[in-house]
Amino acid sequence: VYFVVRFVILSLFFIAPGSSRPWPNTLFSSLRNETIENKLCTDTSCMTIASSDYGKMILQLPFGVLYPSSVSDIIDLVKSSYNSSFPFTIAARGNGHSVRGQAMAKDGVVVNMGSMRSNTDVSENTGIKVSGNSSLGFYADVGGEQLWIDVLRTTLEQGLAPVSWTDYLYLTVGGTLSNAGISGQSSFHGPQISNVLEMDVITGKGDFITCSKNTNSDLFYAVLGGLGQFGIITRARIVLDKAPNRVKWVRIIYKDFSKFTKDQEHLISVDGFNYVEGSLIMKNSPVNDFFSPSDESMINSLASENGILYSLEAVKYYDDQTINTIDEELQMILKGLSYESGFLFMKDASFFDFLNRVRDAELLLQSLALWDVPHPWLNLFVPKSRIMDFNQGVFVDIIQNQSRSSSGPFLVYPINREKWDDKMSVVIPEDDDDMFYTVALLNSAGGAKDWETIDNQNTEILQFCDKSGIMVKQYFPHYSKKKEWMKHFGNKWDVFKERKAQFDPKMILSPGQNIFNSE
Ligand code: FAD
Repeated sequence: VYFVVRFVILSLFFIAPGSSRPWPNTLFSSLRNETIENKLCTDTSCMTIASSDYGKMILQLPFGVLYPSSVSDIIDLVKSSYNSSFPFTIAARGNGHSVRGQAMAKDGVVVNMGSMRSNTDVSENTGIKVSGNSSLGFYADVGGEQLWIDVLRTTLEQGLAPVSWTDYLYLTVGGTLSNAGISGQSSFHGPQISNVLEMDVITGKGDFITCSKNTNSDLFYAVLGGLGQFGIITRARIVLDKAPNRVKWVRIIYKDFSKFTKDQEHLISVDGFNYVEGSLIMKNSPVNDFFSPSDESMINSLASENGILYSLEAVKYYDDQTINTIDEELQMILKGLSYESGFLFMKDASFFDFLNRVRDAELLLQSLALWDVPHPWLNLFVPKSRIMDFNQGVFVDIIQNQSRSSSGPFLVYPINREKWDDKMSVVIPEDDDDMFYTVALLNSAGGAKDWETIDNQNTEILQFCDKSGIMVKQYFPHYSKKKEWMKHFGNKWDVFKERKAQFDPKMILSPGQNIFNSE
């Protein structure tokens, strides 16, 4: 029996043209569609890009990489797999800014969504198109492959902009909508997934379906926050609003975590700022380039005394109509906050520069060869009721006191729950509080630091939460066992599984998430 099984397995492999790797024979023959074949790359250069991501911790070689020039190329690819007796896996790769192989397809096909961005044939390209009017509202129809930076640039030309953002804009629309897309605006407008009116999606059966809250709503809710499991987003209709010209950008420093969180919670509950976030400042850690050198030395000496500081970051938009009243408004909003006296810092910036703020840091890190390094990130949603325990157990006891090799930034800020729709696939803490906290431990392992040590610290943090009964949920979840996924989805697991059976019954899409192919 052993030899028969072995013979059958070996006969499924042969050497594909242009490659020195043995490929599943069945997979290659499933792809015998001339259009797709011409757009499929199995060269080392394509494979190298598609087998890695921003995290630089996982390496998985696909069978090949599809460079589609139209939506129909992707439909053809998915249909070839779905209609084959031996379906192969397919992963859309947005901009590859996942950190744990989520956009990879081991021995399957990676769809390089970016190649649709360079297609100049407008009839084939979903692109970015602004529509609507002031009474019914404005929106942009945007290809799933588009980068948010380009959505911003294009919509700003018409004085408009999306209302909900991520901190970094070189991410694709399809990639962030598969997660949630959060930033300091999420408390006021909901995450990016709450600001989508309609989508075109290619399901795991190769069906091209337009969906919204009213039409094919099951697919609509499944895909938003759905980790790429139900379909490939080729177009999303995004809510727009009038864009401000400029922003007042504030950072205030706290020694006391309970005062810091009380002020954050207050600021996301009132009409005042348009963006509220927060971060940790550790002793000896490089302070953000927001601060001048003299501010920085003042902050550093306070951090040395205190060990750890908390920096509340908030932004108020303004434009020509409000230019004369903005400072007064700002003073009113800041009145009564409990930050350290003398530790309020302010900047004026264009709306574009504020939204694109992480790009400067990226360019700097790239020049220092510290951008393309491993990123053992841990992103958590923490119940509001346990954030004080989380501060003591994680920020103070693990990160500050034992800090062996972690290097931030470490973000912490509350988000209003109200605008998160429970019908969507995204998972947030399962309590009744009006808010929950997001904690982003955005470690990088450049220089002498090794990522495994930092990742062990991440495991320690998760174990601490588990032992202390802090019911965190991972954002950009990463698990290797089915039972861990079931626990993650909690009361949403059955629906998630049923939707998979409905829209991707052969389990073709986004295998790198490791949900339905884990044991
Ligand atoms: P990829 O990594 O390419 O793909 C992610 C997943 O989505 C994969 O499973 C993939 O198969 C699937 N996918 C990709 N495109 C599509 C599509 N068109 N249709 C269906 N599925 C698709 N996130 C936040 O929420 N807020 C932040 O502030 C934030 N800041 C970040 C800053 C940096 C520097 C980085 C690297 C990441 C940040 N992220 C943030 C995380 C980011 O949102 C996710 O990693 C996102 O998945 C990256 O988008 P991408 O286009 O690179 O997706």
